[in-house]
Amino acid sequence: MATERHEYEQVIYEVPAPKVARIVMNRPKRGNAQGITMTYDLDNAFKRACHDDDINVIILAGAGDHWSAGHDLSGEGPDLPSREQTVGLWGGSYQGKGWAGFYAREKEIYLEISERWRNAPKPTIAEIQGSVISGGMILAWTCDLIVCAEDARFRDATAAEMGIAGVEFWQHFHEMSARQAKEWLMTGDWLTAQEAQRRGMVNRVVPREELSARTLELAQTIAAKNPLTMKLVKQAVNFAQDASGRKAAQDYGFHLHQIGHMQAMLVSGFPIDIESLPPKMRANVEKVVAARRAAAAE
Ligand code: ZN
Repeated sequence: MATERHEYEQVIYEVPAPKVARIVMNRPKRGNAQGITMTYDLDNAFKRACHDDDINVIILAGAGDHWSAGHDLSGEGPDLPSREQTVGLWGGSYQGKGWAGFYAREKEIYLEISERWRNAPKPTIAEIQGSVISGGMILAWTCDLIVCAEDARFRDATAAEMGIAGVEFWQHFHEMSARQAKEWLMTGDWLTAQEAQRRGMVNRVVPREELSARTLELAQTIAAKNPLTMKLVKQAVNFAQDASGRKAAQDYGFHLHQIGHMQAMLVSGFPIDIESLPPKMRANVEKVVAARRAAAAE
């Protein structure tokens, strides 16, 4: 039987209709920012839905006004996954010397886990409202379909403000045209729901008050079909994307992303380019860097 409702620390798992699981990121006061806790709550929730034979379709939603503020940079909560949480096999220590630890961490929590969700065999639908920023794009892109409210908007600020060539799960070129991807990354501008739909990144744009109902309606339509066939459709399209270079481009983008972090680290001792940050964020980061330097000098 489908589990009706299960609460993780930062994620709620519910079954709003037969054969449909709805996974809700539930950290609205932080814009559903994704730290270690939410990452593994999400992984557990996806696993629950995928392993439940009574579930055919999975919705990924976010509580509150904004779907995702991206990766949690607040320093709250654990910074590294435990060995028990870790799902990849890279091994070694997340606190390894030089770039080894940082690389292992990003590979586990941003690259491999995102690819794992993207390849979840059952159809997934993102139900999006409000802002989706940088790391939040990864969560949206891992889903097969995207339904968003008219107020949804999308931004990858990593290139414009952090000295990084795009978020870790580097799918930009496969989500829009090459020129659109370049412009979006180089300017750091917002992409509206309507423009995202025009580019083919979003399936449906609906009034905010109808978002959950319309997403569930689409989920139920798909959930009523032969579930194995739906899995095979997903696998066929995902394979076609990978055969046309998605996976290779993504892995290359991930490694250029690492060069961006390393360059910033070499120049300023912090893994993002402080000079490019908006003034308020820059002031906060400079405090963190100064505290770290003081601690290291003691
Ligand atoms: Zn990164």
